[in-house]
This record gives sequence, C-alpha cells and structure tokens, in this order.
Amino acid sequence: MVTGKRRLGFFLRREPGMTTTSCAKELAKSSRESIGILDWECMGGRRACRQRGRRATVWFLIFLRHRQDSGLRPIALPEDNRAVILEIVHYGHPALRMKGRRIAAVDAGIRKLAADMLETMTAANGVGLAAQQVGRPLLLCVLDISCVTDRPSRMFVEGREVDAAAWMPLVLINPEISVSGRERSATEGCLSFPDLSGEVPRPERTGVRATGLDGRPLEFEATGLLSRALQHEFDHLQGILYIDRMATKERRRLDGPIQQLLEETASKSGMPARA
Ligand SMILES: [Zn+2]
Repeated sequence: MVTGKRRLGFFLRREPGMTTTSCAKELAKSSRESIGILDWECMGGRRACRQRGRRATVWFLIFLRHRQDSGLRPIALPEDNRAVILEIVHYGHPALRMKGRRIAAVDAGIRKLAADMLETMTAANGVGLAAQQVGRPLLLCVLDISCVTDRPSRMFVEGREVDAAAWMPLVLINPEISVSGRERSATEGCLSFPDLSGEVPRPERTGVRATGLDGRPLEFEATGLLSRALQHEFDHLQGILYIDRMATKERRRLDGPIQQLLEETASKSGMPARA
C-alpha cells in the first residue's frame, strides 16, 4: 500500500570498537523503558551516508519498539549484509496471484528478505509491502505508517492503546487477521499498480496474530490507516488484490489504465500476463 511521504527513524553513531548491538545495549541501559530493538544497520548505514554526502562516515539507523513484556532482544544482521532495493513486480506478474507459503523458521534468509523489503518499501514511499510484490510468494509483509500524518491510525496491545508510530516498522510473518466493525470506503494505492488509486470498502478494525522478526508471537489490533494497510497486505499474501475489493463501478472506472498496465507487464516479461 502506498501513501504520503515517509520519515526515517533516528541515527546513532557507532563508536570505534563497538558493534551495533553493544551500542544498542548502552542505549537501552540509559532508557527507563524496556526496549525491543530491530537492528537495521544495513539500511541505515547507507542511507545516512547518502544524506550526509560523506560515504566514509559510519552511522547506523536503529528503530526502537517499546514493549511492556520484553527485555532487550537485539537481532544482529551480519556486518557485510547490506539491504538492497528489490524490483517491485506490477499487475500481471503471476506472483501477485500466488498464495504465500508458510515460513517454517525465522532464519538469516528471512531477516535479509525483510530488511530488503523495508528498504524497497521506503525507497518507493510505500506504507506496506508483501513478499508477493517482490516475486516471493511467502507469508511475509512489512508495514510502516509512522510517516503519515493526515490519515490517523490507532493501535491496541492487550486491549490498551499504544503509540502506533513507536511500533513501526512492523514485520509480520505468517500473519492471521480478523476483521470487525462497519465497512468504510477510503482511497488506496498499491506499489504494484503505479499511479493508480481507487476507493476500497473495508471493515474498520483489524486484529492480527503473527510472528515477529525476533521469532516471537506478536498480537495487536488496529483501526484507521494501519487497519486498512494490514488488510491490504494480508490480501496480497492470499493472492488477492485491492482491485478485487472495489465496488463494480469503481473497478470499471479504472478498466482502461488496468488493462494498459497488464499489457505493459506482458510486453516487459515477454510472457502472457495474469490478470
Ligand atoms: Zn498492494
């Protein structure tokens, strides 16, 4: 799902002789809260260098996620493992209609894929990306709504409201969702449908059970944009696209551009596209 501009997390400088993990531990010591840490050194290092125009400077980006239930659980990626921007496949690519395979173990390969997907989503100004969209039919999606200010999101953990932005980015492995509440229509876009958007009705509340990138269970509820983005990404994992959810009239309005996109995808791959 795509909307608005994104903001980055924050940067920490890595002192000589310290690893990212030991820097993170120092940070956690000075914080009053229990902190779960997702270590995206591979993403932040490059982005920081680009922003500062000083390629040699070693900075790294770390996202902190406040959790009531956990201590410090850093996940380190190998030092030489740099996140890359993947190709996002467009409508007509067969992977978009495939159901995701269950992920048996959260290993280094999955962590690398998740890091690459976050990098790819960020570069494309998206708020959500499913593995199908990078040609990998797996039950894995990433989300980050923290940059969107004009479409509010609410998030609830164990019935209590939490700061949704502090929980971003989300990496959801083998997610299951339940939806409830009134259906509401709002505009959606999709990174696999460049420059297209349309009204999609969806129930207002989403409950999620998934495995996080740390291999532990993750359970929460959401409303607002986050709820919509979760349903959009969960659909991708089942091979369902947002155009399938549109009212007939709205879908017809987009018939021309969608057909054109299908033909472009077919001519690019040299294979018949799959609608
Ligand atoms: Zn999408």
